[in-house]
Amino acid sequence: MSSALVWFRRDLRLQDNPALHAALEAGHTPVPVYIHAPHEEGSWAPGEASNTWLHRSLAALDADLQARGSSLVLRQGDSQAELQALIDETGAEAVYWNRKYEPATQPRDATIKRELREQGIDAQSCNGSLMFEPWDLATQQGGPYKVFTPYWRNALTRLHIPAPLKLPDTLPAHDARSVSLAELKLTPTLNWDQQFWEHWQPGEAGAQEALTVFIDGALNGYRQQRDLPDRVGTSLLSPHLHFGEISPWQIVRRLEAERSAGRDADIDGYIRELGWREFSYHLLHHFPKTPEHNLNPRFDSFQWARDNPSQLAAWQQGRTGIPIVDAGLRELWATGYMHNRVRMLVASFLCKHMRQHWLHGARWFWDTLVDADLANNTMGWQWVAGTGADAAPYFRIFNPVTQAQKFDPNARYITRWVPELATLPVKARFAPWQTPDLLAQHAPSYPALPIVDLAAGRDAALTAYRRTGGE
Ligand code: FAD
Repeated sequence: MSSALVWFRRDLRLQDNPALHAALEAGHTPVPVYIHAPHEEGSWAPGEASNTWLHRSLAALDADLQARGSSLVLRQGDSQAELQALIDETGAEAVYWNRKYEPATQPRDATIKRELREQGIDAQSCNGSLMFEPWDLATQQGGPYKVFTPYWRNALTRLHIPAPLKLPDTLPAHDARSVSLAELKLTPTLNWDQQFWEHWQPGEAGAQEALTVFIDGALNGYRQQRDLPDRVGTSLLSPHLHFGEISPWQIVRRLEAERSAGRDADIDGYIRELGWREFSYHLLHHFPKTPEHNLNPRFDSFQWARDNPSQLAAWQQGRTGIPIVDAGLRELWATGYMHNRVRMLVASFLCKHMRQHWLHGARWFWDTLVDADLANNTMGWQWVAGTGADAAPYFRIFNPVTQAQKFDPNARYITRWVPELATLPVKARFAPWQTPDLLAQHAPSYPALPIVDLAAGRDAALTAYRRTGGE
């Protein structure tokens, strides 16, 4: 039987995996391989939280393959050289993979495909992670979308759910050599990720389980509850989606099967959020410099405050003195995740009140989020900073106190992550510096004042904005 390499990357699942399916359909013995090549991601090599997730996800994928009679081959080094070495060792006639869309990897993959084909190897790439290819949708003028609503309106007219791809119960064995998972050195030496695993189960089974939990629970009322950080009101599927442990089509199929009059609005609302993910890949493809550069060039002359390492450290460590901001950054450190509403608030505080460049925040998220994703993270930061597509205008500045009162009205989220405020009256937990005696008595270790005065920070941000020509 001929063999084919199935090159796993951001598609760490067996079900509904187009590259694996294509290899099997062509009658090959699949040789599943993962090549660890972080240097090929340019300045966005995966951060520590991503790596520790990846470690567990690769272990899960290998276990799933072994349960079917195959196994995962691990390699590290230069992707093209490793593929070539494996072709030479196994005599593979074909290489199949699912596409990645990061600016650093797209041209590299195109070169690999061309050079493999020149040797007579059947090299095929598939779409295993998006509902639409980033280049599929265009405005009436034929250009990229910069506004989500018309993008999604167009997308919905073309949404045809494909049938799931079949996977046999057993896979043929191969005898390709692998390095050990430990050799990839993906886990942090200081074990700071210990607490993560109370919250997460990386791998395909964990992804399916998270989807089931969501459908049975938070999906009911998703549209209202997704903004409330004091409860599990969302699917928590983002790291699973990032690593391709589940595909958006698998999610959409399961949700469609749940439709009923009472659930339609929540299901549509959820699929719309998946639409934001699609939109972020559309933007990253058409504006590949945006991980580092403003999408809106007007902000190139914006006067960010001078770098301030001690203030930045206070923000990173959740010591700003603004409870909702500190709660979010502490949740991130403890779990590798932060609620979307709180991501917006901590990002806004950094870019507007502190007037620090959004890249400082994007880099911190990149290293600490288990769902760190170049397309989503770039869009999220540029959206909040007001520098991106369809962005919140810079002059609209979230007030973290009133936002917390609105979205965390009983201060439950704040209290969970900033427990030193727990004995303050609930009302005082949103802006504790306004009741200094109570703060000193109940939480002497908490900052007495915010690192930036909210009114002064807001005024300075608006002044800087006006200098760029804004109203
Ligand atoms: P749910 O509400 O259950 O949503 C389902 C899925 O839809 C998510 O898993 C995600 O894939 C997608 N989605 C939801 N909201 C958004 C959004 N606003 N933009 C793009 N896709 C979305 N998301 C990441 O996956 N990786 C990131 O690195 C990332 N960085 C962000 C940075 C900032 C500053 C902001 C404001 C948002 C960022 N997001 C990022 C988007 C969003 O916060 C997360 O996708 C969401 O919180 C994940 O939780 P969930 O899976 O429970 O979401």
